[in-house]
Formats: sequence, C-alpha cells, structure tokens
Amino acid sequence: MIKKNIFSIGLDSQTIESLYAYLADGFDFILIETAEDLMSKIKKYKVSLMFLNNHLPDFDNCQELCIALRSQPNTETVPLIVLTNDQPESLQKEKISLFQAGLIDGYFSMPLNAEEVTAYSNVFLQRQALQEELEETNKLLSQISTTDELMQIYNRRYLIHRLEDELLRIKRYNYPLSAIMIDLDYFKKINDQYGHAQGDKALKGLALFLKQNIRAMDILCRYGGEEIVILLPHTNAKGASLTAERLRSHIKAHNFGDSDNPLCFTVSIGLVTFDRQDDLNVDKVISALDIQLYKAKNSGRNKVCEVLYKDTIL
Ligand code: GH3
Ligand code: MG
Ligand code: MG
Repeated sequence: MIKKNIFSIGLDSQTIESLYAYLADGFDFILIETAEDLMSKIKKYKVSLMFLNNHLPDFDNCQELCIALRSQPNTETVPLIVLTNDQPESLQKEKISLFQAGLIDGYFSMPLNAEEVTAYSNVFLQRQALQEELEETNKLLSQISTTDELMQIYNRRYLIHRLEDELLRIKRYNYPLSAIMIDLDYFKKINDQYGHAQGDKALKGLALFLKQNIRAMDILCRYGGEEIVILLPHTNAKGASLTAERLRSHIKAHNFGDSDNPLCFTVSIGLVTFDRQDDLNVDKVISALDIQLYKAKNSGRNKVCEVLYKDTIL
C-alpha cells in the first residue's frame, strides 16, 4: 500500500506518538520543525492532513501561517487542525477568527485527548478517501462514455463535441483544420470469408496502427462500423494530403494478422481542409468528408480523394 502523508508542523515527539497510535492506517508523518522547512516540504509532498502547533520557533503568527498554507496549491484544501499549548482563555479569540476566516478545520488545546483528536481527524481522512474514489469513478465513467469499446479510440459522441470545439477554435485562432474519413474496402468480405472475430481483429488492428502513425495532437475517432474519422488540427491541405497518403499506402502494405494467418486490406480515404473563412458546422464537415470518401470508393477504392472545403461551395 502506498502511504499517504500527514504534516506534523511544530509538534513535539510525545504528541506525535500519541496521535500516531490512534490514526487510521496507511499514513506517514512528515515532521516539520520550522516555517522554512514547511515551505520546502509543501512543494515536495502530497498531503492528506496537517496538524499545526500555533507557535513555530521562526513563525509566531498562526493566522499568517494558515494563510500561507491556504495560498499554496498543494495545501489550499488540505484539512488543517491546530493543536495549541495556550491557555483556553487566551485562545478563544484566535480560534474563532481562524474558523471565521475559513482557515482551519479543527482547534484543540493541550493536554490533548489523542483519541478525540484522531477520531475527529479520521472523519476528514475517510471523507477524502471517498472523494478520491468518486473522482476515480467519474474519470472512468467519462472515459467509458467517450471511448469505443472495440477499437479503444474516441467514439462518435466525442467526435461531435470535439469537432464543435475545433470549429470554434479555427475561427478564433485562425489556423487550418483538416479531417479525414477512412473506410475499409470490402470489409464485408473479411467478415464473410474469415468470420466476425477476424473482422473485429482487423478493426482493432487498424485502430492501433492509426494510433501509432499519427501525431499525439490528432484526434482519432470511430465514426461508425468500419469508418474512422481523424481530426488534424493545425494541418493544412498539403500536410494532411501527405498524412492521408502515407496512411493509405502503409495500411496496404501492413499485415494485420500473423505470418500463418495473414490479414490484409486496403482503405479508401476522404480528406477535406477547412479554414476560418468557411461557414461551418458539424453536419457540413461530416457531409463534405462523406462526399470525398464516396468519390474515393467510386474511383476504384484504395485511394485518397481530397478537397479544400471552400472549393466544394458553388
Ligand atoms: P466498401 O466499403 O468497400 O464499399 O465495402 P464494405 O464491404 O466495407 O461495405 P460496407 O461499408 O457497406 O460494409 C461494412 C461492413 O462492416 C458491414 C458490417 O457487417 C461490418 N461491420 C460493422 N461494424 C463491425 C464490427 O464492429 N465488427 C465487424 N466484424 N464487422 C463490422
Ligand atoms: Mg467499407
Ligand atoms: Mg462503411
């Protein structure tokens, strides 16, 4: 298990030991003696909880220290519990003002009841663990909702949203956007001849091949059955044409099976390049791509057909 960190800022060893005995498992104490030490360790560690003695040798103002902790990205939301040696009468004012400013999450005075302090702290730690779990689940859900299960690339839903964004971006920042639509040639024959499982293998293999042969910033999506769309931001007609042609020829030469059971096919590609002057929406982009792909199919397949969007408008 990877241990998580708790900052012990200015606490004596006896206090640390008594807290340690009761705290939930899986935490390491990072001992901090001075404010200077604190500032360097803040940047180094991911922290789950902080215990702070309100008088550090080189930093006597508790409020300022709390503000400093709250203004660092690594500790701004980490639960902060003050443990103080002051007498109860003198600390009442400070305690209230720290709570009112939203700077602290707990305030206890010595002598500590370690069991009480840790029971209180454990609530924060458990809440944090639940929050982390929730964030992980949300991340997974968002990934599932935008990923095609078979090809493990973006799905059509993601493509539509992303394309809307990209169309706004090319208008705002004035860079070209190219898009290509790829369709396997005679794919039905692969399914019929070798079975659906081999057909699926061809689709998975093609997705992986494309992933490995485009730039990291290109956006690879399954549009439908055996149709793939790739958005190529910042790519003009010349660059996109070279890319599409390279993909076409490399796919033709590639064995998607193995030496005993070769699995080879070709693809047809429609390519369109857009710029900020074009009056665009998602449907117009997809339909322009469809037309070029259709042309590539009709002119014999294993072809790239390309156009500037503005030339398609009469
Ligand atoms: P062409 O595109 O060259 O005109 O011919 P094609 O044989 O590829 O024709 P078409 O695009 O009409 O056929 C697509 C086929 O893709 C039909 C469908 O059974 C198959 N297909 C679609 N999705 C999947 C899938 O997830 N797995 C498998 N194995 N086949 C699929
Ligand atoms: Mg096809
Ligand atoms: Mg098709």
